[in-house]
Amino acid sequence: MRKTIIAGNWKMNKTPSEAAELAAAIAQIQGAKCEVVICPPFVDLFYAKKAIEGSCVKLGAQNCHFKESGAFTGEISADMLIEAGCEYVIIGHSERRQYFAETDETVNLRTKAALAKGLKVIVCVGETREERENGITENVIDRQIRLGLKDLSKEEMANVVIAYEPVWAIGTGLTATNEQAEEVCKFIRGLIAKLFDADVAEETTIQYGGSMNAGNCAALLAMPNIDGGLIGGAALKPADFATIIAAGSAN
Ligand code: PEP
Repeated sequence: MRKTIIAGNWKMNKTPSEAAELAAAIAQIQGAKCEVVICPPFVDLFYAKKAIEGSCVKLGAQNCHFKESGAFTGEISADMLIEAGCEYVIIGHSERRQYFAETDETVNLRTKAALAKGLKVIVCVGETREERENGITENVIDRQIRLGLKDLSKEEMANVVIAYEPVWAIGTGLTATNEQAEEVCKFIRGLIAKLFDADVAEETTIQYGGSMNAGNCAALLAMPNIDGGLIGGAALKPADFATIIAAGSAN
């Protein structure tokens, strides 16, 4: 049985003291029957970790470099994240692709490096609005998945989560319809079956992300191929995040 995972991507929000407060509020959410992950900014990790101690909430980061150390100003290594208490890392978020020149090739390098160190990786894929309008959504996802997961073993796939995040739905208030989200998540599962095998596909958690909120989460999470959510804005509001966790726990 694959895991349902509700992960909050805090992006560049919250100072360390604010992060400690938000993480403590999330740690108090009761009744989660799914995996709950928070991904604060790097400087907040230690504070968030302390705040979630003793709860089931897991810690993740928003990026990780593929080299162990060295002259990579502004970057962070997998070892650093692990020592800060991270179990997860988000790789290839569309904002990294859009603003920081992340490519499918660097997504692959970062993913392999993080997996080699024992992190679980949330690999983000998704089409832009223009790509959807041009009818090439599946081609784009196919390329992102093939290149992003290139040379990964079936065993490594046990620590990979895919987040399908249509770029046009992130932070815009526009959500993919349940059917649109399900269609692409199903396509991704089929592709994983082709690239690895049916068992790997069946076991891989595929999240939806893109303006998921307290109002639309239940219907999205009830779709058969949507196994969780990667949540931006609503992850900063403990009550809304609690509603999403409850919906994730119901499936
Ligand atoms: C995200 O950042 O991954 C995301 C889905 O953001 P939002 O929920 O705000 O659209």
